[in-house]
Amino acid sequence: MLGWSDDRPLSAVLPGKVAKALTKSFGYTTCGQLLLNHYPRDYIRQGRNFRAFAEREAPEGAFITVSGTVTWISKRPTSNGFVLNVTVDDMYTAVFFNGIWQERVLQKGVRVLFSGKLKFYNRQAQLQHPEFLILDAPAGSTPVSKRWGGTLKAISQFVDVEELLRDREWLPVYPASSTLKTWTIMAAIHHVLETMPPIEDPLDIADLTFDKALRDIHEPGPEGPQRAIDRLKYNEALGIGLVMALRRRDTKHWRAFALPPADDGYRAEMLAKLPFALTDGQQRVIRDIDHDIARPEPMTRLLQGEVGSGKTLVAVAAMLSAVDAGHQAALLAPTEVLAHQHARSIAAMLPEDIRLTVLSGSMKVAEKRQALLDIVSGQADIVIGTHAIIQESVEFFSLGFVVIDEQHRFGVEQRDSLRLKAPEGTFPHVLVMTATPIPRTIAMTVFGDLEVSSLHELPGGRKPIQSSVVPEGKPAWVRRAWQRIREEVAAGHQAYIVCPRIEGEGGVLELAEELQNGALAGLRIMVLHGRMDDKDDRMAAFARGEVDVLVSTTVIEVGVDVANATIILIRESENFGVSQLHQLRGRVGRGGNASLCLFHTLSAPDSASFERINKIAATSSGFELTELDMDYRREGDVLGTRQSGRQRTLQLLDLNEDLLIIERAYEDAYQLVEDNPELAFELTAEIREKEQEYLDKA
Ligand code: ADP
Ligand code: MG
Repeated sequence: MLGWSDDRPLSAVLPGKVAKALTKSFGYTTCGQLLLNHYPRDYIRQGRNFRAFAEREAPEGAFITVSGTVTWISKRPTSNGFVLNVTVDDMYTAVFFNGIWQERVLQKGVRVLFSGKLKFYNRQAQLQHPEFLILDAPAGSTPVSKRWGGTLKAISQFVDVEELLRDREWLPVYPASSTLKTWTIMAAIHHVLETMPPIEDPLDIADLTFDKALRDIHEPGPEGPQRAIDRLKYNEALGIGLVMALRRRDTKHWRAFALPPADDGYRAEMLAKLPFALTDGQQRVIRDIDHDIARPEPMTRLLQGEVGSGKTLVAVAAMLSAVDAGHQAALLAPTEVLAHQHARSIAAMLPEDIRLTVLSGSMKVAEKRQALLDIVSGQADIVIGTHAIIQESVEFFSLGFVVIDEQHRFGVEQRDSLRLKAPEGTFPHVLVMTATPIPRTIAMTVFGDLEVSSLHELPGGRKPIQSSVVPEGKPAWVRRAWQRIREEVAAGHQAYIVCPRIEGEGGVLELAEELQNGALAGLRIMVLHGRMDDKDDRMAAFARGEVDVLVSTTVIEVGVDVANATIILIRESENFGVSQLHQLRGRVGRGGNASLCLFHTLSAPDSASFERINKIAATSSGFELTELDMDYRREGDVLGTRQSGRQRTLQLLDLNEDLLIIERAYEDAYQLVEDNPELAFELTAEIREKEQEYLDKA
């Protein structure tokens, strides 16, 4: 971490068996990997957990560690001996068959740590023959040497178990495996730390040394682990901050084409021809972009806007500024369907002379060759396609502006690769558009130095979408849902039905057939899913109104725009993420008509997923849904925060919650890069290496 590692092989420090098990279970081979990747997941302090860990919700079969005081002991005879039940804190029961020795040491009032495989028996959480460690026993009742068994004996070969446990107010609980109990890991780490010389810190920024923090997170003193955790979080944030600051330093030298807005160009023509007035928000964002791209420094701007807020228009205005200035613009969509749809709707807006080229994976070879030729020769003014545009060997004549639509996973590294598409020595201006609000910390982490614009209001007197939940357990509601679809179709509108799968029960194919012969008989139903070759034709037919009901998978998730569709039914919505559901809902409500979104669910009314769906139904703002969405934690999976093998850059830092730490670390990082860029470069070698590995794999 930040230039530090302990490269001693585990096998040189620990008994062979333990070292091997650590490699086999977790993939660690060096002491440094163990120390930095295997932080405690909880601590036990005098019987209480530091973080309330959710073992109560652990699935059957999981290896868990629990601690508590023995509250209840019972013994039941069997045909060949007896069964001993030992319950701690009235919650977990350890079961021992013929547990003669256990009966002697596990007495009422004894504080104990159990580790074993979780089973449920009559809804009671049980651990059968768990291993255990006695933490505290009423005075004199059990000699210390009798307080452990099994693997604990093995530990005693390389650490002094008594010393390990003596006066420890906080005990770490480690992620364990079937072969490695938490206390084996505790002992291994203890021994590794014991034999490790003090770490010298090349930085003297934080108030707690890295050496102390690393030792304290594993073996906290009486004051607990929090300071150590915060210090190590800071280190993680600093690592990312340094990478970003270094990048920013690089990009300072990049040049972009200046694209000043022209009063008499294609852009002005397009805006003048619009059949509606721009919203205040659109005007504001267009002004912001104009201001940025008029200068010869590359813009990176994130446009966050509610579904249907009219982001595309903003993008088209900016792309035409590029064309007016004699350069090209590209729009990257996340899917082929969306690329084609954008091409259709944007073509309808563009002045006649503008040449638009679509680049798609499904093109015939000759077509594609022509498209590539148009792009490299400058015949194409605007290019629309999927992200393949930046991956493949597409060469541009003079790319000046890039729009990235609905793609918040678009990472720094992809952004960098855009440089290769622009003429030597330049970088295109970049506009990233998304309807999924990104928490500021994550945006900072992914894009570093980006500016953010937002579009909150919906244009043109649009009515908010009504949402309802349709539980499968209420047949009358389900019937009503089909009836509502029939009503919308009877009124001349269209409907989407989204299924979580293609085949099998509740899949697109089965449901479409069922509906055709049942609840929606007589309507024009069409299926659509990702495995079809003629997706675009089908989507276009739906857009033309030739179909009443589209039964599809989530291929319609982002951006698809059919104003006449006024109802969407999402089947088994518990299968989808929050932002996905919000995106799907945004497929309706795009014309001036009142629209309805029905969230069907199989979840039980008292389940967490049922509650989640109800919350989404009750909230129409994507910006408010942010908090609901655990997916965001995963959005942080860019720049080394994603899992790459078993090594992650971010172990502790929570991009949603540690804003203060992140801000402080980023400030320090920028300062350090300014003062000592060589050191910053050195310190981040490891992070950049991981990024490269990831890129090479991708
Ligand atoms: P999103 O922000 O979700 O990408 P779109 O750009 O697809 O939204 O816009 C949704 C619809 O709103 C489109 O049909 C578009 O033509 C229309 N629209 C955009 N701006 C306005 C406006 N100022 N007034 C009325 N309709 C607009
Ligand atoms: Mg859009």
